[in-house]
Amino acid sequence: MIFRLLIYLQLLVFNYSFSIAKDPYPKNKNIDIINYAFSLHLNDNDDIIDGKAIIDLKIKSKDVKNLRFDLISINDNKKGMIISDVSFNGAGVSFKHTNNELKIDLSNVEVLKNNKVRINYKGIPITGLIIGSNKYGDRTFFSDNWPNKARNWLPLVDHPYDKATCEFIITAPNHYQVISNGLLIEETNLENGFKLTHWKQSVPISCWLFAIGVAEFAVQYVDIFEGKSIQTWVYKQDRIKGFYDFEVPTKEAMQFFSDYVGPFAYEKLANVQSNSVGGGMEAATSIFYGDNSVTGTRSVRWRNVIIHEVAHQWFGNCVTEDDWDDVWLSEGFATYFTLMFREHAYGRDDFVKGLTNSKKQVYKFYDNNKYYTIVHNNLSDMKDVTTGYIYQKGAWILHMLRNYIGNKAFKDGIRSYYKNNFNSITNTSSFKEEMENASNMDLTIFFNQWLYSGGNIILDGHWSYNRKDRKIIINLEQVQNDGYLFEMPLEIGVFYENEILPKFEEIKLKPGAIEFAINSDKEPINLILDPNIKLLAEWNFEKK
Ligand SMILES: [Zn+2]
Repeated sequence: MIFRLLIYLQLLVFNYSFSIAKDPYPKNKNIDIINYAFSLHLNDNDDIIDGKAIIDLKIKSKDVKNLRFDLISINDNKKGMIISDVSFNGAGVSFKHTNNELKIDLSNVEVLKNNKVRINYKGIPITGLIIGSNKYGDRTFFSDNWPNKARNWLPLVDHPYDKATCEFIITAPNHYQVISNGLLIEETNLENGFKLTHWKQSVPISCWLFAIGVAEFAVQYVDIFEGKSIQTWVYKQDRIKGFYDFEVPTKEAMQFFSDYVGPFAYEKLANVQSNSVGGGMEAATSIFYGDNSVTGTRSVRWRNVIIHEVAHQWFGNCVTEDDWDDVWLSEGFATYFTLMFREHAYGRDDFVKGLTNSKKQVYKFYDNNKYYTIVHNNLSDMKDVTTGYIYQKGAWILHMLRNYIGNKAFKDGIRSYYKNNFNSITNTSSFKEEMENASNMDLTIFFNQWLYSGGNIILDGHWSYNRKDRKIIINLEQVQNDGYLFEMPLEIGVFYENEILPKFEEIKLKPGAIEFAINSDKEPINLILDPNIKLLAEWNFEKK
């Protein structure tokens, strides 16, 4: 009876919630990775990395008969990784490494609750760890895992859903310095001209956020935020310019996100110049910026990249999408919280400039992608995991939500969402629930039309003044012609002669042509749609 009731309740819940989209990764919720410790030997004679992975994991079911990890196999060009041996709780086990998958057979070993897997491997990474010259011709090693390239140099569960702590124990020629996630545990000169550097990340993160950088760096301990070190790591040639550029605005951004969203989750925050990325990469506690990020001018473009990557430490890194279908929870949020910091630090005009620019990019992409949805519908190809559209329209959706439910409910909802998913994984439905609880509103239509459907609003209309009835008559219609129609409030500014401030009116957009009348004793000189930049829409609107 209880069983049947449960099924009934589940059906009921399912009908009133969104269908759960899933990317195709073979998740195994019976296995929980606790810690990865990667020991990597790097050298200057060739690009072979010699690796040992020790993986601590919990196995939650007796039905687990094998373990599966991602690791790119060796290809015809002799690049990729070869595994020499694998052990499980100290004993050798049989394994198969084919088609970029490592499968470890557990049928003949005793499986405990807490287990230790050890994998010895070596090879030349095809990608994922970029070994080569930086812009000064110096040899460097920089990781580039996004979104699923970690498997090129590390054996792991290469998907965000299973967060783990990590350690990197790097031995490299002693002219290099090594940066990685978390805190520096050890740095020792070995006798043969090599140096051992051990970094330990004690807060669990998704593996696209694992990072190492090995180069001849200039390193500055810039500041402290709530007891945690803020650091700059740039190429030694860029010492003066790089220290200048990265001195701001990391601390200010950390302060703002801490105050608005909730506490910073990690142990330090380093800004790192690297040649493995073009723009920025939010690796937890060690953010990477492209070769050309150091300009010595504190350029606005790179300033905004810094804010975006710092915002990711809260959204994407600390609170993480459990599926690539929900990647907007990372990129849309980092993009909008960058705008919110700009509003806070540089003022309303800079915020509006960002929103306007973002809207332009949305409509440019939309022109050729009318049915594209922000939450993916069972993403099958990882090359499609994000587009600029997810960043920009994702940001706009948060902006509209903030205006729709009000500043206070928005902030309360964000704080609760962050707190309840701290260092964990989540999805769009939970975010919706948090925002509904905070606002006491049903947001089903809002989430459906903006996140799970395609389309965008394009309005066509006009206004006129009826002198006899003393009314302004507004006619509007959604003409996007993409099959989608929206329900949203639209603010209208009514401007009169010799009055600086307009009178604000709100109308409700809905499917079909709408006519709306505003009482007005005198004829306005102009009507402006959305004067406070609250709605993602384009329009053609004139006086008739
Ligand atoms: Zn981002």
